[in-house]
Amino acid sequence: MIIVQKYGGASVANVDRIKDVARRVVKTAKEGHKVVVVVSAMAGETDKLIDLAYLVTSKPGEREMDLLLSSGERIAIALVALAIKELGQKAIAFTGRQMGIITDGLHMKARIEKIASERAREALEGGHVVVAAGFQGITEKEADVTTLGRGGSDLSAVAIASALKADLCEIYTDVEGIYTADPNIVPEAKKLDKVSYEEMLEMASLGAKVLQTRSVEFAMRYGVPIVVRSSFNDNPGTLVTKEDMEMEKTLVSGITSDTNQAKITVIRVSDSPGIAARLFKAIAEANIIVDMIVQNVSSDGESADISFTVPETESREALRLVEEITEELGATGVAMRDDIAKVSVVGVGMRTHPGVALQMFGTMARHGINILMISTSEIKVSCVIEAKYSELAVRALHEAFGLLVNV
Ligand code: ASP
Ligand code: MG
Repeated sequence: MIIVQKYGGASVANVDRIKDVARRVVKTAKEGHKVVVVVSAMAGETDKLIDLAYLVTSKPGEREMDLLLSSGERIAIALVALAIKELGQKAIAFTGRQMGIITDGLHMKARIEKIASERAREALEGGHVVVAAGFQGITEKEADVTTLGRGGSDLSAVAIASALKADLCEIYTDVEGIYTADPNIVPEAKKLDKVSYEEMLEMASLGAKVLQTRSVEFAMRYGVPIVVRSSFNDNPGTLVTKEDMEMEKTLVSGITSDTNQAKITVIRVSDSPGIAARLFKAIAEANIIVDMIVQNVSSDGESADISFTVPETESREALRLVEEITEELGATGVAMRDDIAKVSVVGVGMRTHPGVALQMFGTMARHGINILMISTSEIKVSCVIEAKYSELAVRALHEAFGLLVNV
């Protein structure tokens, strides 16, 4: 088999951890598999590099930032390859460029366009373990270094697995897999054996931090089977794969919460065609991702309030953009709240079982939690609530749906 093993920052945090990784890789290779190892920078390295940049300038240019940030992964691949060779196994480290990872030119959030992996293939054929730098690529024309956005090594691993037609993409991390809720909030949360791409996608974008959202999207599109597991033990982890009949029997697979969201309300915009288009054009042009949107027309039918959520990191920028066009929208003002959380229940079983939303709202009501916004999709229900209730809500929902988990 061809197996891609991705090790995150925690798994290569220090020399002992790197030696552990090397042992696991060599063991897999000895079992007769071709192994590609994708590595992140050592824990905290990327943050350190960002801090360094801000010590020399308040506005670091993105091209040079990418050059700087990509160095974290270079250190990690060199050390991992050396550690593997030390165990007597042939290994070769490749940067993004040497791996043939071609991206567009959107620095710091580049998209992979193609992977020209002949060299990696040859190395594998020649009995080498290939150690590839995660998170980085280059532009085709200028060969400028790019990075894929924070947490981007997951995407590197999945894309490499797809390009090499790997049988499996293992994501090694410091947790044992995907849980029914964050075990830090709900200690009795259970590890899921299996979860569908769609559920994983919802969970990742709803705040479960184990897998980067874009990597799940990519895996779903190209059918790359992922296993999320711990690099600290040999437990089996969670398989992320195509939905099957069995999964449908479970009503809710997981409860997530995300406190890194902000809610912006545009007050009393004129109730006429083109207003929402104008508002969200401004936001989209700044590349800010809007999640929930709620519009309420007043009873006199003349004006409407529009509320929407954006990532907290981009809330100031979003607020500024909306303030710029308040007059154009005929609005009387703009308000922002960042003390909010989005709590969600996710499960493919919802498609065939009604009543999940009702049960969720009932649970919130019993705990006196006020719901500020609601959104639903086929397989999830999300509520925006005050951030201070977020952990309470997750625990309450986990309990309320708990009987139905893993039945
Ligand atoms: N080192 C990068 C980061 O910290 C990429 C990754 O870890 O996946 O975001
Ligand atoms: Mg990560």
